[in-house]
Amino acid sequence: MSIKNAYLAGVYEGLAARNAEQKEFLQAVDEVLESLEPVVEARPELEKNGLIERIVEPERVVMFRVPWVDDNGKVQVNRGYRVQFNSAIGPYKGGLRFHKSVNLSVIKFLGFEQVFKNSLTGLPMGGGKGGSDFDPHGKSDAEVMRFCQSFMTELYRHIGPDCDVPAGDIGVGGREIGYLFGQYKRITNSFVGVLTGKGIPYGGSLARTEATGYGLCYFADEMLKANGKSFDGAKVVISGSGNVAIYANQKATQLGGKVIAMSDSNGYIVDENGIDYKVMKEIKEVKRARIKTYLDYVPSAKYVEGSAGIWTVPCDIALPCATQNELPLEGAKALVANGCYAVAEGANMPSTPDAVAYLQANNVLFAPAKASNAGGVATSGLEMSQNSQRLAWTFDEVDGKLHGIMKNIYANAAAAAEAYGMKGNLVAGANIAGFTKVADAMLSQGI
Ligand code: GLU
Repeated sequence: MSIKNAYLAGVYEGLAARNAEQKEFLQAVDEVLESLEPVVEARPELEKNGLIERIVEPERVVMFRVPWVDDNGKVQVNRGYRVQFNSAIGPYKGGLRFHKSVNLSVIKFLGFEQVFKNSLTGLPMGGGKGGSDFDPHGKSDAEVMRFCQSFMTELYRHIGPDCDVPAGDIGVGGREIGYLFGQYKRITNSFVGVLTGKGIPYGGSLARTEATGYGLCYFADEMLKANGKSFDGAKVVISGSGNVAIYANQKATQLGGKVIAMSDSNGYIVDENGIDYKVMKEIKEVKRARIKTYLDYVPSAKYVEGSAGIWTVPCDIALPCATQNELPLEGAKALVANGCYAVAEGANMPSTPDAVAYLQANNVLFAPAKASNAGGVATSGLEMSQNSQRLAWTFDEVDGKLHGIMKNIYANAAAAAEAYGMKGNLVAGANIAGFTKVADAMLSQGI
């Protein structure tokens, strides 16, 4: 624990004692509470109203059994989760993650982060997250469909367009959202905006697919520009090769950068000529193959087994877009040693606390996920608005709004950091700006 303020430390210690095994959740809470020290010191009403004790507890946790039949006719059982963390400023909103590493700690950390991230977007969305330890790798389409149908057969009773609106996350893309939406509609006989990330023919928003990666680059661009730098001519390393990484590649390239390395959980590729995002999209989304397949397209590229080594590839800008804690201290040291001057997080909590501290201490510009990857959920918010109005905006309209939102998030996080005497510290600024709106709403609404 790095918290010094007695009130915050007390809340954290109680939480840690009750949830000792939930290390990802405690890591996320520790980081936020540390940033809030100057806020609780300036605003004693927060302690009097038990605001911190309340904000670290989810409003509701739903855990359920997900039985499904595999292609051999055998019944498989996974665990399903939906954590409805905070609804002070809007309906619960946040993705579903299907990955073998999913457990209650992971979903609670993601839900907690989502509360502040959604607040930063400026849109009326509370925070939630869900998912399952189902592993989509190697499953047939029919198995994925049956799993999604079983998952929604329980989840449907807990969600709704004004109550809780899930979307995608790792392992949940357009295909899964389609199956989930179909099952919701079948059970409830209502066609409503209960999920986002939907396909364009049935209520999805243009630019939602691209939004997290684009938003990440829009945010990074603001941060770079404020410090006299830009993507133009920069060497960029992007970990991951999923939806966030693919569209971060496209936008970073459009802004003049060259993406020279990308990874998956098996290893990473280096292509000094620049990686074409369309090739990566074909490998990952059409073929659903491993990143090593890139060598079939570009034989001159290099493939290295093991994903952690990607941080040793010399670059100017690093965009961690794979998963939590993928950028440890050793990775941060390698980046600094090779002259990297900016890190912007596309995944949720990809950098470990010691890596963040090291990067900041070495004057690397650092964009924290809850600000820099908020473009995905922000555009989900825009999808909700379009669904409510029964309208569909053009790609450029949505992309323009997304760009404006990311600029605002940067400005608000930078201003909050400065207001509390931490100029340039976007970790603190994002946490404080995200927290303030939720806390004020909670105070207004009583207990
Ligand atoms: N999973 C994304 C995130 O971490 C998007 C959530 C959403 O669109 O609701 O923010």
